[in-house]
Amino acid sequence: MNVMREEDILTGGSMSLEEATDRVASLMSRYGNLQGAALIEPMVHEEFNGKITMTSSFGTEAAALLALVAEVDANLPIIFLDTRKLFGETHTYREQLVDQLGLTNIKIMRPDENKLKADDPDGMLFASDVAKCCYLRKVEPLQRALTGYDAWLTGRKRFHGGERDALPAIETAGTRIKINPLAGYKPEDIDDIFEHRALPRHPLQAEGFLSIGCMPCTDRVDPGTTDVRAGRWAGQDKTECGIHYII
Ligand code: SF4
Repeated sequence: MNVMREEDILTGGSMSLEEATDRVASLMSRYGNLQGAALIEPMVHEEFNGKITMTSSFGTEAAALLALVAEVDANLPIIFLDTRKLFGETHTYREQLVDQLGLTNIKIMRPDENKLKADDPDGMLFASDVAKCCYLRKVEPLQRALTGYDAWLTGRKRFHGGERDALPAIETAGTRIKINPLAGYKPEDIDDIFEHRALPRHPLQAEGFLSIGCMPCTDRVDPGTTDVRAGRWAGQDKTECGIHYII
């Protein structure tokens, strides 16, 4: 399934593709050497005031970016994709973090019920077509959630490897702009944020999960595994759910 549809290009952000490219070049020249809260602050309060959101999986490392964002603006809209295939522990953890960090604006997005009935009536699509399942349960709901926004913050990091190896701090996402404040952070930087703010860990981390997504597509990893995303779609030719191809 091609998730980069022409209508998405036309109806995405308020910029044209060319304007978004120029804007990223301009932003990179001014802010490209910043990271963490130092980068979040001007994006939220100056460059995209009211036009920026954030996505969070509320997975194992999510609390780090959520904490930095809460310190800049606890009212920032935060999109959470409830695929209806998540671990119950992720929902519990989300509620715990929202309370602890004082986040006020969580937008829980779910798949379109009619589309699920038509294309995944028994809830087993993940077993036959992961690309289509991720499209129905993640990409399309996120596309809806991003309506009205020109920019979004993500928690991706270069140390996750794969396609994230060369992740810039600021990049185009078609007609929108993605900001990656933790792109250059190392695992020890993430640990520091948890430690200094006494952030709770995702309950499944202690059970051997390094990166946590949907239940059917997330496995435990062997102790000592350095590939953070090794447990996602293990054994399949898939490393990303597709939401970061949204334009
Ligand atoms: S991660 Fe698995 S269950 Fe979740 S949306 Fe993608 S294919 Fe479906």
